[in-house]
Amino acid sequence: MSLSVTFWGTRGTIPVPGLSTARYGGNTPCVSIRDAAGHCVILDAGTGIRQLGNDLRAHSSSGRLDLFLSHVHWDHIQGLPFFSPMYADGQEIHIHGPTPTGFTLEQVLERQLDPAVFPVPRAARPAQVSVQALQPGDMVEVPGFRVQSCLLSHPGGALGYRVTPIGGGAAVVYMTDNELGPGGAARVSTAWQAELSQFVRDAALLIHDGMYTPALGEERSGWGHSNSLDAVALAAAGSVKHLALFHHDPDHDDGQVDDLLAMARAAAPTGVTVDAAHEGWTVTL
Ligand SMILES: [Zn+2]
Repeated sequence: MSLSVTFWGTRGTIPVPGLSTARYGGNTPCVSIRDAAGHCVILDAGTGIRQLGNDLRAHSSSGRLDLFLSHVHWDHIQGLPFFSPMYADGQEIHIHGPTPTGFTLEQVLERQLDPAVFPVPRAARPAQVSVQALQPGDMVEVPGFRVQSCLLSHPGGALGYRVTPIGGGAAVVYMTDNELGPGGAARVSTAWQAELSQFVRDAALLIHDGMYTPALGEERSGWGHSNSLDAVALAAAGSVKHLALFHHDPDHDDGQVDDLLAMARAAAPTGVTVDAAHEGWTVTL
């Protein structure tokens, strides 16, 4: 059964709309994975999720949506209050994600909708929303898909996800806000990099943080993001066929992302296709 993977937001850190970012897009992370039966898994709720919500409402969805958050830093949840299925009667939204430091996941999401910072009252949001905390290594079965999580190297922690259709077929791996290489942000175990290679193994598509050039990555060691060449190395180690560089730096204009992509393509071994994800792009698997 074929899958459609659509990028609704590809930018890291903060939305950067404007002419200089128009090709790769200015909205923050959101990716949807849909199967032919209409099941939908959503990865992150950055500002890109607003347009996804409008699209889902225009084409009737299954009545259940499963949203997996990599973590709750602003750029990954900022669009959630503006996700129109939240305002639809009879809509079920299941939110899955890691537990933030010092709070429950539910508390952080509630605070985002506090009347002090968001004007729409709870009564105006009739969707049934449930929140499920995940640990690294957890496996969740949702309609149409099996989703496994893994630990990423990011300040405060984050989760990567491997999404596989239940009926078998192509796997998609989503790993953003992840610092590969030595000196990573989360002080993960030495076996971690090898475990990641296993986690991504034979994926049809790996969506990975490729925010930096090697020089910028060195300068920003510990910030929890990767240089694009490390992302290529991970794809190659896991025999991944297609790598989509993701979470573009808000200070990079389209030309700089082009340059970073050219560098990554030059480093990629035969058999690994590298692209830079852009807003509105759909990959069919
Ligand atoms: Zn981020």
